[in-house]
Amino acid sequence: MLNVPSQSFPAPRSQQRVAAGGRSKVPLKQGRSLMDWIRLTKSGKDLTGLKGRLIEVTEEELKKHNKKDDCWICIRGFVYNVSPYMEYHPGGEDELMRAAGSDGTELFDQVHRWVNYESMLKECLVGRMAVKPAVLKDYREEEKKVLNGMLPKSQVTDTLAKEGPNYPSYDWFQTDSLVTIAIYTKQKDINLDSIIVDRQDDSFRAETIIKDCLYLIHIGLSREVQEDFSVRVIESVGKIEIVLKKKENTSWNFLGHPLENHHSLIPRKDTGLYYRKCQLISKEDVTHDTRLFCLMLPPSTHLQVPIGQHVYLKLSITGTEIVKPYTPVSGSLFSEFKEPVLPNNKYIYFLIKIYPTGLFTPELDRLQIGDFVSMSSPEGTFKISEFQELEDLFLLAAGTGFTPMVKILNYALTDIPTLRKVKLMFFNKTEDDIIWRSQLEKLAFKDKRLDVEFVLSAPTSEWNGKQGHISPALLSEFLKRNLDKSRVLVCICGPVPFTEQGIRLLHDLNFSKNEIHSFTA
Ligand code: FAD
Ligand code: NAP
Repeated sequence: MLNVPSQSFPAPRSQQRVAAGGRSKVPLKQGRSLMDWIRLTKSGKDLTGLKGRLIEVTEEELKKHNKKDDCWICIRGFVYNVSPYMEYHPGGEDELMRAAGSDGTELFDQVHRWVNYESMLKECLVGRMAVKPAVLKDYREEEKKVLNGMLPKSQVTDTLAKEGPNYPSYDWFQTDSLVTIAIYTKQKDINLDSIIVDRQDDSFRAETIIKDCLYLIHIGLSREVQEDFSVRVIESVGKIEIVLKKKENTSWNFLGHPLENHHSLIPRKDTGLYYRKCQLISKEDVTHDTRLFCLMLPPSTHLQVPIGQHVYLKLSITGTEIVKPYTPVSGSLFSEFKEPVLPNNKYIYFLIKIYPTGLFTPELDRLQIGDFVSMSSPEGTFKISEFQELEDLFLLAAGTGFTPMVKILNYALTDIPTLRKVKLMFFNKTEDDIIWRSQLEKLAFKDKRLDVEFVLSAPTSEWNGKQGHISPALLSEFLKRNLDKSRVLVCICGPVPFTEQGIRLLHDLNFSKNEIHSFTA
């Protein structure tokens, strides 16, 4: 609801926004962009009306502030006066007013959980919600305990079902030189994509994705370990082993002490995004405005971005943290797909279009090789199981909406034995905008299962290929199944109105919900 970069984009007056059938967007007034908001927050103006004081807010008090010119909203226990922000909210004032005088956390999470409202709204912070007195259990004695294998039950934070036969657990064991942390997920569909490990100084953090939840191991290690470690998954029993190398070959008496949310199973929608600093390794021009960025993960991180998922990149822009989603790609269309990717694969590639008047991308473009950018853990709804026994794969991409298609193409052409045909229809304005055109042409030449069609909306007179926008005529001709009843999947990604229109057309052409995957934030 607050600061919705994805909704401020495309720009209010851009073609993407005004195209027929597009979702109605709220045009912002002149001087009300995200950058203008950042300037206002830096101006020293008192945006809360409290002259810098922070107060405790009761529910009764919160309810009173429910008008446009006096609007308080609570997000995760913190109360913000969002009245000054109203005109800057890309989703519009009415959207923001839905949470006026109340707890807007759920609404916020539904729309854009990833937006870093703490930074965006820090000058609007009124204070915290007053906590109702409650009888609190005294955990202090438990906290004094150190970890030595299985945790005491009371360390499990009050999130999902308590310990039980299906609750994940962990254990640890050691040799002279190694410490192994074993996680028992009690699930079978676990692979190297399911586990993300970050170690910083003595803090050890392992997130395991178990269905719609995260199981978190979060420990302050009792002794020093070396930077690198290995991760192994024993799929048949759903066990994960993380092998740390001791700095000194001495016996550890205990593993460490529990840190926040240790040994808890939390619904993914309720977890904040965890960021680690990645180094810019290379940057290469792909078109006149799109570049291939290569980021390197820290040596003490294990993270693989699953096919079709995105991450968030975070930069501090004039002191405010700005976050935008990006979809990792392979280094090229000819990268062999490796499954599972080697755990020491540290490089993550992005194809990113630089908008000269955009907020985030010019700043990203200014980074020098060796500079750092924060990257979140992956998110997204695409599941590789959607490819099961697939025969026909259709990809509809517009502009940088091509990015999720890159790994999909790599994977489909290497790892789906039943696949007969892959067809990509790639919409761009001009020939110069086509990302990896020659790679696509070479790949289609090399692999006869792949057909690629480019469609241009603003071609030069020399263009003799297809022209126009996504339309019933273009799609009905393109989306021919190989066999009458072949198992088919259509993936679609691009500007929001393009995707929405595409989905409507696909339904008109009798593609079922299960046969369509659309990529959005
Ligand atoms: P913005 O500041 O959002 O501006 C974009 C354009 O709109 C600019 O031309 C700007 O001038 C104009 N504009 C913005 N606000 C206004 C206003 N108020 N009035 C007039 N004009 C305005 N992009 C990629 O390049 N690669 C990817 O892999 C990728 N993956 C994505 C994955 C997901 C899930 C999603 C949702 C988006 C993805 N994007 C990707 C898009 C990306 O997240 C950003 O939206 C994009 O990079 C633009 O960011 P920006 O801050 O530079 O531009
Ligand atoms: P672009 O170059 O502006 O547009 C690409 C093509 O799409 C052009 O031919 C354009 O036609 C057409 N198009 C634009 N809006 C349309 C509409 N409403 N109906 C039909 N056709 C339309 O695109 P871009 O700047 O690269 O932007 C790519 C978009 O993809 C961004 O919005 C980005 O957020 C999104 N994206 C999403 C994901 C994801 O969700 N996972 C991943 C990557 C990118 P015109 O010439 O008429 O504009």
